[in-house]
Amino acid sequence: MSQRVRVRFAPSPTGPLHIGGVRTALFNYLFAKKHGGDFILRIEDTDQNRYVEGAEQYIVDALKWCGLAFDEGPGQKGNFGPYRQSERNLLYKQYAEELIANGKAYYAFDTAEKLDFHRKDHEAKGKTFIYNWHNRLKLDNSLSLMPEDVQKRLDAGEDYVVRFLTPPDEKLHLKDIVRGNIEIDTNVLDDKVLFKSDGMPTYHLANIVDDHLMEITHVIRGEEWLPSLALHQQLYDAFGWNAPEFAHLPLIMKPVGKGKLSKRDGEKMGFPVFPLSWNESIGYKEEGYFSEAVVNFLALLGWNPGTEQEIFSLEELVETFSLQRVNKSGARFDPDKTKWYNQQYLQTKTNAELAKLYADILHEKSIAVDEKPEDYLENVVGLIKERAVFVADFWDLSDYFFVPPTSYNEKAVKKQWKEGTPEILNRLVSVLEGISDFSSVNVETIVKDWIGQEELSFGKVMPPLRLVIVGDMKGPHLFDIMAMIGKADSITRIQKAISALA
Ligand code: GLU
Repeated sequence: MSQRVRVRFAPSPTGPLHIGGVRTALFNYLFAKKHGGDFILRIEDTDQNRYVEGAEQYIVDALKWCGLAFDEGPGQKGNFGPYRQSERNLLYKQYAEELIANGKAYYAFDTAEKLDFHRKDHEAKGKTFIYNWHNRLKLDNSLSLMPEDVQKRLDAGEDYVVRFLTPPDEKLHLKDIVRGNIEIDTNVLDDKVLFKSDGMPTYHLANIVDDHLMEITHVIRGEEWLPSLALHQQLYDAFGWNAPEFAHLPLIMKPVGKGKLSKRDGEKMGFPVFPLSWNESIGYKEEGYFSEAVVNFLALLGWNPGTEQEIFSLEELVETFSLQRVNKSGARFDPDKTKWYNQQYLQTKTNAELAKLYADILHEKSIAVDEKPEDYLENVVGLIKERAVFVADFWDLSDYFFVPPTSYNEKAVKKQWKEGTPEILNRLVSVLEGISDFSSVNVETIVKDWIGQEELSFGKVMPPLRLVIVGDMKGPHLFDIMAMIGKADSITRIQKAISALA
């Protein structure tokens, strides 16, 4: 590749970015960075009717959270700005006119009502109305009207759109990096509107003019844009411009059944489909996902490294990524796998990092930890993180490190609490009282020796002991827990349970 690689992510601010959109941004970013090129954010906001307040900021925030810094874009310096199409508004008309002047496009005056009539009329006959070679001369446009008539209408300020004049009887040979060669017969295409009566370009015109002016070398976008490729290629040819290379990414599919992953799938099955929260829809961030986990699982939706490796940092992804390894077929979304990724990333965090996050949760619950040793939280986290998927799981896994149990698992009580249990535990209290070094190893040695000397079985002592310390049969090594909560608390918990379960 001799030219500097330049790619763009070009969302329309019509709502929050779906994770499919984040994946498109990610693949663009990876490709740009892999080739030492530029990653550009362009906001395609020419359709004022679909504009949603706050959506652009959401897009910027989402990219930032994922660590996908753009080199050029709104609010960022760059030599190809402005990067919002609404601010480039005046630019597009001249290109529409250039095409008309060169016989590649035409004015069409058909009213919305007329077109609607044709559409309905066709429908009633079981056909689809397509505005193209077979009927354009019967419709109201600069191909069917006399030139003077056209001029008169334009001078009178009549509403018009500009349509692309699709040449009939041609075979287009399109190239897509993911899908290979595609052949299209131009006779099946319609004469798409390039410029609207409201004085704004359509997506198609603005998109290819900007890709050209911004010197985009590779267009990497979702498969839903593949049907536009024929028109886009023809527009490049009509202008006499070199087209960029295209790569259309496979759809992200529902976890079960057929079709594209939708917001409703997330609502039904309880997983986020947005990176950040948007109104009442919770995002991956707010659900407690690490951004690295999200980036990692998105990368593997539709791309495969060709190895068994599943965990990739962003840097590793940049190194390994290639469009040649993007799959043709849709990528099924697996909510369980996203959780697995988060669990993996949680394990790679230091106890200090996790303790900081956990401290916020404890603060919200008004659990004071000031009187605990400085490394208490870190030690707790170190003991339980293996079982956690999210930091929010920590509390259920470790509440007993902060507050004594207020109830005891009923099933466990039935099974473990025998007639002789209170008496054994009372004797154990005396043993514990005599221990001055209350470290896990020391308590374990002394308690185990005592069990041996008294000829008690482990089963008679250890399960009830766990039950009274933790309130349940869960948790890490019991002597670690006892050492952490300390001698006084351990003894109090045993005594309290003896009277509570009497
Ligand atoms: N504005 C289009 C979108 O919202 C961009 C498609 C493209 O990348 O060409 O996805």
